[in-house]
Amino acid sequence: MDYQVSARKYRPGTFDDVIGQPHVVQTLMNAVSTKRVAHAYLFSGTRGVGKTTVARIFAKALNCAQGPTSHPCDTCENCREIALGNSVDVIEIDGASNTSVDDVREIRENVKFAPFRGQFRVYIIDEVHMLSNSAFNALLKTLEEPPTHAVFVFATTEIHKIPVTILSRCQHYNFRRIARSEIVQRLQHVAAQDQLTLEERSFLALARASEGSMRDALSLLDQAIAYSGKAISHADLELLLGAVPQELVQELIRAILTQDSPTALASLANLLDRGHDLRAFCADVVEHIRNLLVAAVVPSTTELKSLIETSEEDLNQLSSDAKTMTPEQIQELLAIFIQAEDSLRFSTHPRFVMETAAVRATRLLRPRPSDSLSLQQISPSPNHKPLDASEG
Ligand SMILES: [Zn+2]
Repeated sequence: MDYQVSARKYRPGTFDDVIGQPHVVQTLMNAVSTKRVAHAYLFSGTRGVGKTTVARIFAKALNCAQGPTSHPCDTCENCREIALGNSVDVIEIDGASNTSVDDVREIRENVKFAPFRGQFRVYIIDEVHMLSNSAFNALLKTLEEPPTHAVFVFATTEIHKIPVTILSRCQHYNFRRIARSEIVQRLQHVAAQDQLTLEERSFLALARASEGSMRDALSLLDQAIAYSGKAISHADLELLLGAVPQELVQELIRAILTQDSPTALASLANLLDRGHDLRAFCADVVEHIRNLLVAAVVPSTTELKSLIETSEEDLNQLSSDAKTMTPEQIQELLAIFIQAEDSLRFSTHPRFVMETAAVRATRLLRPRPSDSLSLQQISPSPNHKPLDASEG
C-alpha cells in the first residue's frame, strides 16, 4: 500500500467519526434529516480542526446513493468519489489560487447545470477569504438567487475578512480548537493502529504542540515516525518539537514552592545551556501557574479535568501543590510571570528579565515578619495557625 500521511489516512469519513465539533455536526445532521438544507454555509476556525472534512461529509450526506441522509454510507460510488475528491457534483475550489472574478464567473455558469449523479451540486470553497472583492461581488449574485440544487460551503481561517454581504447570506458555524484530551485520544488510536510505541507524556507533548489542530498533531506524529521509526522516545520527540522539556518547568515551579532562589536560577541557566527559548519557557510557566490557580479555587475533580488539559498524574500534583499557597499568592505569582512574558517581547536582556521574575517568585512565598501578626488579627477562625516567621 502506498504511504499516506496520517491526517489523510485517519480522516473521518462520517459525522460520527468527527472529533471535537459536536455542535456543528449535530446541526448539520438535523438539517439533512429534516430536509432543511440552506444554500450557503460558512465554516470558520483555525487550521486543521475539520472544516474541509466536515464539508466533505456534508456533501456525502446530501449526495449519498441512500440519501440525503444524516448517516451517509461511505461505501457507495458517490460517497467514495467525494472522499477522493473526484465527484463531478462536489466541486472543491482552493480560494487561495482561484481568487479572480473570472474563476467565480465560471462557478456561476456551472452552478446552473443539474447535478450529474447526486441530488445536489456542492461547491466547497476553501480559504474563501482570499477571494478578491470583485470575485466576492460575483459570488454574491449567485448567493442571492441560487438554483435549488446548489449548496455552497465556504471555509475560512479568517472570518473577519469575509464581507458582511456574504456573511449575512450564510449559516455560520465556528469550529473550535480541539481539546488536548481529544487529540491525545486520537493519537493513541493512531498509534495502536500503526503499532507505534510512545510514552504517555509524548502524546500530551504532541497535543500541546499542535495547539488544538488535529492535522498538525498528526503531521507532527508523522515527522516523529520519520525521525525515530515506530518506537519514538520522549527525548527524541522533545528535540523534534523544539518543545520546552516539562521537567524544567516543574523544576522552576518546585523551586518557587520551596522558596529556593539558587535552584530557580540554576534551572534557568540549564534551560539556556540546552538552547531553549525563554519566551516559550515563560509561556509554559504562565500556563502552569494558571493551572495552579484553577486547581486552588475549583474543588471538583470533574470540573478540574474540563478546565485543565493535562494528564491525571499532573492534575494530582497540581492539586496538592495548589494547597501550599493561597489563591491570592498564586495570582501574584501569575502576575509576575505575565509581566515577564510581556517584558521578554521587547527586552534586549531576556535572561535578566526571567531571572528577576524567578527571584521575585521564589521570595514571594516567604512570610514577612508582619504577616503572622496581621493574619491573626484578620482571621476569624480560632483554628488558624500563625505562619512561621523565622525565615523572613
Ligand atoms: Zn453513500
